[in-house]
Amino acid sequence: MICLFGGTFDPIHSGHLHAAIEVCEELGVDSIRLVLSARPAHRDVTSATIEQRWGMLQLACGDDERLLPDDGEVHRSGPSFTVATLAAMHEQHPDDSLVWVIGSDAYALLPQWYEWQRVASLASLVVLQRPGHDLELSPQMRAFTAARQVTELTDSSVGQVLVLASVMQSVSAEEIRTILAEGGSADHLLPAAVATYISQHGLYGGISDP
Ligand code: ATP
Repeated sequence: MICLFGGTFDPIHSGHLHAAIEVCEELGVDSIRLVLSARPAHRDVTSATIEQRWGMLQLACGDDERLLPDDGEVHRSGPSFTVATLAAMHEQHPDDSLVWVIGSDAYALLPQWYEWQRVASLASLVVLQRPGHDLELSPQMRAFTAARQVTELTDSSVGQVLVLASVMQSVSAEEIRTILAEGGSADHLLPAAVATYISQHGLYGGISDP
């Protein structure tokens, strides 16, 4: 089983790391790939550059060997489509089942993703219940979920949906960007190395270290 957790990571924060480790423990896997959505197709431009977000992702994963930063989408041109990432991963590892980890906010909007039905057939989906983002699903997503939901993933299958019971941290990148733009400190919401990087590079409207 190969677990992938994608995001714009603008910036990567403690909530992401906590979620990734929780997934490893709950699913009993040794590692999880954190895939940088380099050029996200379904949202506005990012604040930090691809290189900066990739730099922060590498730093954030540095302290825990279970966390593997993945730059597959950095090297692909055009919008970062999850379906392309999963298809490439399937080609490289045809004997492994794929798991795509996704927060409840993003899951509710899955039908907006490019070839979303194919995304959900190339991998099983593990949904994280983010505080403040109850799983309020459209009728379409409710039916989709009901048809695929399981209480435990079957190792060899794809196309399943597992809603993880684990409690997630109430942290978002947007909140961090807002705090920093207002001149505050978000260090308590960030891995230490990422907080240092942000301050050294003066990202998100913060004052850069001399
Ligand atoms: P923004 O606030 O800019 O939308 P974000 O904090 O949601 O950013 P993303 O990089 O957009 O971060 O998220 C990547 C993935 O991580 C998404 O599936 C998202 O739902 C999930 N995620 C983000 N924050 C958390 C959290 N605190 N707990 C669990 N999952 C999270």
